[in-house]
This record gives sequence, C-alpha cells and structure tokens, in this order.
Amino acid sequence: MPAKGAQVDTDVIVVGGGVIGTAAAWRAARLGRTVTLIDPGDRDPVTGDQASLVAAGMLGPVSESVFGERDLLNLNLHAVRRFPAFNAELEQAAGQSTGLRTEGTLSVAYDSDDLAALDRLTDFRHSLGLKAERLNARECRKLEPFLTPGVTGGVLAAGDLSVDNRRYLAALRVAARAAGVRFVRGSVDSVDRVPGHAAGIRVRAGGGPNPTAHGVESHRDQYAGQVVIAAGHGTSRINGLPDQVRRAIRPVKGQVLRLRHPKGLPPILTRTVRAVVQGRDIYLVPRENGELVVGATQEERGDRNVTAGAVHDLLRDAITAAPAVSELIFAEASAGLRPGTSDNGPIVGVISENGSAECEFPPTGHPRNGLVIAAGHFRNGILLSAVTADAVTALLGDRPPDEVWKPFSPRRFM
Ligand SMILES: Cc1cc2nc3c(=O)[nH]c(=O)nc-3n(C[C@H](O)[C@H](O)[C@H](O)COP(=O)(O)OP(=O)(O)OC[C@H]3O[C@@H](n4cnc5c(N)ncnc54)[C@H](O)[C@@H]3O)c2cc1C
Repeated sequence: MPAKGAQVDTDVIVVGGGVIGTAAAWRAARLGRTVTLIDPGDRDPVTGDQASLVAAGMLGPVSESVFGERDLLNLNLHAVRRFPAFNAELEQAAGQSTGLRTEGTLSVAYDSDDLAALDRLTDFRHSLGLKAERLNARECRKLEPFLTPGVTGGVLAAGDLSVDNRRYLAALRVAARAAGVRFVRGSVDSVDRVPGHAAGIRVRAGGGPNPTAHGVESHRDQYAGQVVIAAGHGTSRINGLPDQVRRAIRPVKGQVLRLRHPKGLPPILTRTVRAVVQGRDIYLVPRENGELVVGATQEERGDRNVTAGAVHDLLRDAITAAPAVSELIFAEASAGLRPGTSDNGPIVGVISENGSAECEFPPTGHPRNGLVIAAGHFRNGILLSAVTADAVTALLGDRPPDEVWKPFSPRRFM
C-alpha cells in the first residue's frame, strides 16, 4: 500500500499527452491496463506546448536522418514500415481518418551543387535497398507542374508517407478515450518512488497555468504501479529522473506556416516537396483538405515566438520553389519545441528502482515497479509514435522491445 492518503486507482500513469504519450496510453489500455494520462491540456496549436500539433507530419525515414546516424535510420525505417498498419487500426478504433498520404517525397534541386547533393542521397537510399528514382527537370515538373521552371532535377522517394498530425493526434485521443484512458489535467513536477512501498510511484501534480480553471482532478498526488514519462522537451524539467537523462533533452524550436487553397484553385502540389533554397532546407507538405504546410526553421532556442524574419524566409523560399504559393491564403504561423537530444536519438527504456542512476535495457526486476521514459524524439516523433507505443507496452509488460531500440536506451547517457 502506498503512503497514507494516497490512492492507487490506476495501473499506469502516462505523463504527457502529445503523440508519444497518447499513443502509448491507447495501446496500454487496449491491453487491459487501467491508464491515466496527465497533461496541462491546452490543445491550441499556437498557445499550447505540444510539438505534436505544430509538426508537419512527414514520415520520411531517410530525408530526416543525416549520414552517420545509422542506428536512427534503422529505427526510422522500422517506424515507416510499421506506421500504415498501426494507423489503420487507429482509424478503425477512432472511427475517423488521419489523412495518411502515400504519394512519396519529391526532392528537387535548383543548381548543380544541389543536384550533386541529391545524387549522393540517392546513392545512399539505393545502398539501403530503398526506392529512389532520379528525375530530370522536365520529369519533376510533369509530376508537379506548379514547381518553378528553375528546377534542374530531382529524386522521387516513393516509399515516404505523410500524415495530418493534428487529425492523427485527435484520432489517438478518441481511440484512447474509447479504450478507457482517463484524461486528467495537471502538470507533473516530480516523480518518485513511495518510501517504504515497493509498488508505488508518486506523481505530484503541480498544476498547469491555471489548473482550477480546467477543473483539475489531479491536484492531489497520483499513484500507480507504473509511470511512463512522455513529456516531450518538458521531460527535462521533471524532478526525480536521473540528471544525466534530463540534461540530455533540450528544446529545439521550429517555426512553420499553414496555407490554404482559395476556392477554385486546384491543389498546387500532390506530394511532399523538399528543396534547398539559397542554402536553406524547405519542405512543402500538402494535405487532403487543401492545407499546405511550409517549414521549418531549426533554432537552438526554447521560446515559441513566431518571428517576422522566419515567416518572411519561409514564404519567400516556398514561393521560389513553387510561385503559385503566393496565391494561397495565409492561415497560420506557429512555433513548436522539438524534444532534441544530444545525439538526436529518442530515449526509450526503463529506469530501474535500484537508484536513479541505473537504467536497464532490456528491463530487469518486476515491471509493476516500473518507471519508463519515452522522450527525446526530436525531428521524428510523429514517425516514431507507433513503434514507440509498441516499445512502451513491451517494457510495461516486462518484455524487451524490438532489437532496433537497443541503441536508444537511457543507459547511454549514464
Ligand atoms: C516545426 C516542427 C516540425 C516537425 N515535423 C515533423 C515531421 O514532419 N515528422 C515527424 O515525425 N516529426 C516532426 N516533428 C517532431 C515531432 O513534432 C516531435 O518529435 C513529437 O511531436 C514529439 O512528441 P511528444 O509527444 O514527445 O512531445 P509533445 O508533442 O511536445 O508533447 C509533450 C506533452 O507533454 C506535456 N507536458 C510537458 N511537461 C509536462 C509535465 N511536467 N506534466 C504533464 N505534462 C507535461 C506537454 O504539455 C505536451 O502536451 C516536428 C516538430 C516541429 C517543432
């Protein structure tokens, strides 16, 4: 039994309601666990603190990995293979679409240097056995007629997917609720073992910006046999986690734009387009509903201000890539904080009860005393959400996750 006054009313507490926490909560509940998800609860993409709502939703395993990140690439490839089946189950459970698209990514070049860089990326894709088709300028514009005539060539990565991350998170929430997950508003400031009680982890709810206004039912401590910390970049602020793990996570700001087609204008793009414009990477991700996401900056900052300079650069580069972008309606500019890590890889594993400095992979000891971390998904959290949920449910059940996760244990930071 936990400390006096405490109440163990759930098997698992998940801290954080972005794609990582919500996907894990849904899957754990489906396996018959009682699950409580704690999150401050502001769902507004502009004012809320959720990278999951700001993201572009590209599921491109190669284009988001850089040369040398071989372990991360293997994980991303595993993730993109898993995503469609997970998504199909999700759409069925939630009874709504997530806007998954399968037309691939077209990366285009504007000069010979860009083209040479694309060639190297194509060779790399081929070496991994991935499909990547070199296209000349005419072929690129045949696929995407609204691209600027200045395109010199490109590469089509047919295996890349994209998803409408907002619809995806909405579906995860519906599915989680339907599976019995209890949503509680609150901000967790620390996680610790209940003294003298092996089977309890205490989560103190520190309250969000205005907890009572949200009718917080979590202002008391919450207890559970197992806790999953999935608080994105906010994981670094949760006391009770090993310092080395907290220090490994930092916010990396990204600003994006959302544009909409006016009535009567056909979609100007049918697939994700990536380009380098004057040395800056840009992507344009079309949605089924006529939205076009343009992103993104990558800044070593922890604020979520939208800046005039970023909006200017993103619009100018998007219009350079596809001049018809200037006809679109400006709908939104937002900024999110990617949960970055010092080696760009996620942190998924069990933190053992033998002391805060000890991390286990695969887990040892009884899972009922488990503290699991699933954070630091940096640029790939939407892509990795399905396989992270698989890994977390394995860890909660005292089973090792897929081997591909081995390099991403918290142990590597200890
Ligand atoms: C501009 C941009 C573009 C991106 N594009 C892509 C892309 O195309 N593809 C892709 O795969 N990924 C992309 N990403 C990355 C992706 O968005 C993240 O990796 C992913 O959203 C991380 O999910 P998460 O659930 O860990 O974090 P978040 O979505 O940030 O959610 C964390 C949650 O935890 C809550 N929380 C924080 N602290 C506490 C606390 N103490 N107590 C309780 N709750 C707490 C927060 O309120 C939040 O709801 C992009 C990110 C950005 C910013």
